[in-house]
Amino acid sequence: MIVNKNGVGVCLLLAALFLPMAHAISVSYGSSGYSGSVSVSETYKLDDSTAMAETTDLSSGAVSQSTSLSGTGLNLVTKSVSGGAYGIEAAAQSYGALGMSTALSASGTSGGMSQSVSGAGNIAAVSAGTSVSDAVCNIAQVENGLISTAQSTTSGGSVSGAQSTSLEGEIGVVGSISTTGDSGMAVTGEIIGEGKIDADLCSSDTSITGQVSVDGTRWMDSQDMSIVGSNDFGIVVEGLRVAGDGIGTFSVNAAHVSTADARKSNVRTNAMTYYQNSPLSYTTTGWRWNRASPLVLYLKADSNLASEGLNSNSVREALTSAADTWDGVTSRNLFYDGGVIVDSRKNADNPYDGYSVHAWKYLSLAPSALAYSRTRYGYPKVNGYYTVLESDVSYNTRYSWTTDWSTAVNNNGRIFDVQTVALHELGHTLGLGDLYTLPSTDPRRGDYSQIMNSYNDPQRTLGSGDIAGIRKLYGI
Ligand SMILES: [Zn+2]
Repeated sequence: MIVNKNGVGVCLLLAALFLPMAHAISVSYGSSGYSGSVSVSETYKLDDSTAMAETTDLSSGAVSQSTSLSGTGLNLVTKSVSGGAYGIEAAAQSYGALGMSTALSASGTSGGMSQSVSGAGNIAAVSAGTSVSDAVCNIAQVENGLISTAQSTTSGGSVSGAQSTSLEGEIGVVGSISTTGDSGMAVTGEIIGEGKIDADLCSSDTSITGQVSVDGTRWMDSQDMSIVGSNDFGIVVEGLRVAGDGIGTFSVNAAHVSTADARKSNVRTNAMTYYQNSPLSYTTTGWRWNRASPLVLYLKADSNLASEGLNSNSVREALTSAADTWDGVTSRNLFYDGGVIVDSRKNADNPYDGYSVHAWKYLSLAPSALAYSRTRYGYPKVNGYYTVLESDVSYNTRYSWTTDWSTAVNNNGRIFDVQTVALHELGHTLGLGDLYTLPSTDPRRGDYSQIMNSYNDPQRTLGSGDIAGIRKLYGI
């Protein structure tokens, strides 16, 4: 530890390190002055291929530092800086090609730290900050892919953070969380299956602005985020994508969170033994249909539907059957008994009109999206569950759809079954979450008997976890 109390600048050059083998280095130092003291600690676990240069300046109660690093293999870098009433941390872990630079400037009362991380392979970068009652966190992670992310955090009297991230790979996650006291807001984007996420997010004082795009389509923008921040509780867009030679998924969320939620980590580790059609295999989202009157679903019957070769009556029956399948396993009458209402004037993907609409659309900017739901939920909270306000489902006419079971079975992966996708999406509408987004250590994640797992085959019936989940929400 180097402590400088006399105001004379000290320049530390930790030098370009060419390490003969993997080494762990820990460095801690601090500086005190009239405005207080600041301390820094760093840890490096570097591959033997990795080179690093670091320059640190210490003066009375202040520190500034810059680091650059490049290498391959397994590398882990963590840095934290703290002053009288604030703290900032940044970390990056990679397995693969890595280029990284960091900069920090801090005093006893405030500080800022940024890191720029790019590379290929498995890479995660996190930047976080706290002040007396505020916290922000930005995270970006890719598996088997490429990433370029710039993250920064400043803290002192208040705390703010930002990230600009572009990643593509087999699994990708981008997230930003901002909290004050016990509550805050989170925005996340996630892909499973080959794909791309671009996100620019700025967070401070429990509000987040920016945008999240998946495969080039902007699913969440500042307008959505400000509505979530000021009026409603959350917006979730989740859907199916064509990914490589299989079917992948994506989800983009903007929500209020509790500080406890914000602390939950999103760590993925090796696979394990999964449940097989278990009643334990469900997860809830935190919202449900709280109203006494049943939920009315609309089908937009328009030229898009007709040009798919779909008959609006058959689609209406498929959607109604999907709704009835959920209704049939709980005592609550969840969906309107008159069936889905065909109405060409209602629009899906308008999450603010109060109508829950299913529609077929040519998603010109979303070539990989098969189908997605956009659910808006908010107050009141009933027995701990937020209230679904509306839930729209869009089906991409770039892909082929059928209401015929044998056509779907015989063309699995090429022609998609309307009722299967509707059954899954209506599960979200009612408050069940995806199993495939659970950590890979979770035994529910590999239970493909559940409709709330990913689409692997046409499936018009519920698994025992789906049934247990809906009964947990609505009773037997
Ligand atoms: Zn889903």
